[in-house]
Amino acid sequence: MDCFYCSKDERQAALMLPLAALRWSEVYLFRDQKHRGRCVVALKEHRDEIWQLSEEQRAGFFEEVSAVAEAVSRYAQADKINCAIYGDLVSHFHVHVVPKRRGELQWGGPFTDDIEKKLLTEAEYAAIGKALLAELDGICRSKAIPLLPLAGEG
Ligand SMILES: [Zn+2]
Repeated sequence: MDCFYCSKDERQAALMLPLAALRWSEVYLFRDQKHRGRCVVALKEHRDEIWQLSEEQRAGFFEEVSAVAEAVSRYAQADKINCAIYGDLVSHFHVHVVPKRRGELQWGGPFTDDIEKKLLTEAEYAAIGKALLAELDGICRSKAIPLLPLAGEG
């Protein structure tokens, strides 16, 4: 199984930074921040398709996706969160959590990655990660979801 969500190798590091571990998932800050606050929530175990998760795993995982989506929404002051599950090329079950704002980039349609990336400095990623984690921490506390932050400079 050649999967970068499982091996956590340099292919993954080129695309995203680890932000937090929850019970069922791991949360990453996407390096391309043209939608500021964009994250990925990946299932801890390797599964390819939604029906391959156990009921407990699916319920727990999506509770965590919901907490992350709410945190991203608060951080980005989003008008809508797009949650996307694709996985054609990287099949490991994961959800893209992408904040959208009315009238701004790609509003009214699906977000796409076929336009120029917006990469930031490590200090900028750290600042976004810290702010997102602060939001996520509050939400997880209110829902009794255990949160283990992973961001370095927090
Ligand atoms: Zn995997």
